[in-house]
Amino acid sequence: MAKRKRLPRPDWLKVSLKTSDNFLEVSDLISDHSLHTVCQEARCPNIHECWNQKTATFMILGDVCTRHCGFCSVRKGKPGAVDLEEPENVARAAEKMGLSYAVVTSVDRDDLPDEGATHFANTIGAIRARLPHCRIEVLIPDFNGRRELLDIVLDAHPDVLSHNLETVEALYRRVRPVANYRQSLRIIEDAVAYREERGVGLRTKCGIMVGLGETTDQLVATIKDISETGCDIITIGQYLSPKRNSLVVEKFYTPDEFAFLRDKAYEFGLKHVESAPLVRSSYHAHDQFVNSGT
Ligand code: SF4
Repeated sequence: MAKRKRLPRPDWLKVSLKTSDNFLEVSDLISDHSLHTVCQEARCPNIHECWNQKTATFMILGDVCTRHCGFCSVRKGKPGAVDLEEPENVARAAEKMGLSYAVVTSVDRDDLPDEGATHFANTIGAIRARLPHCRIEVLIPDFNGRRELLDIVLDAHPDVLSHNLETVEALYRRVRPVANYRQSLRIIEDAVAYREERGVGLRTKCGIMVGLGETTDQLVATIKDISETGCDIITIGQYLSPKRNSLVVEKFYTPDEFAFLRDKAYEFGLKHVESAPLVRSSYHAHDQFVNSGT
């Protein structure tokens, strides 16, 4: 079979690779505390911008994922034991970075009885103990739709509960083979219901990537589905193939096409929309939080 040709990257996806002292400081902190970041593991194109501004997204529960999604560059396989010191180490690093807004995500840990929910809660608790005024956003896996695990995380009171749909329903089998589109929507719905039931100040957020072969109609339908969960914030960014054997980019969307999707999302009632080529779930996360306030 003929090898698929990779599309050349358009100019609007070019980023600066300048590194500052802040970048080196973040890098040292991450390695000194034996931590992982999704910035590195996912080969995020924004790493220079974010780290130069001393923001990073912590990736807890190790650096090996039990799923094998075709868009993701995180190592797949059998993960090691959970590092019980990690919550405290994340909190220490966040304190040294002087964070007023911390974003924490994880690999999938289908191998653990609680799929890592308690570790998320412990990490939120450890950050809060050191930095009582720091806002905390958690980008969680789907926990196989187990509501009791979602509640463990929500009971630790993150400021933002984020879960990414990643792509349209029709592409799930190819892009997120173990996940389920409806189940992922339900996580946001359940988080919104938790907020209503308990009267807490939680915000919810969901991210999708474009360029994996979806149609515009499918994208608009997905944005509508997200809006109907009661979600507050949506992020829409260009998929970039992180590794040689990752899914290829089927299309580069233009800034105008991102603007069209942004307008659609606002039409559907989202409180805040980030839609641009380099947008990632955690890109300018603090600003997204501020701009989604009512
Ligand atoms: S956008 Fe998120 S994942 Fe990417 S470098 Fe910034 S903080 Fe890290």
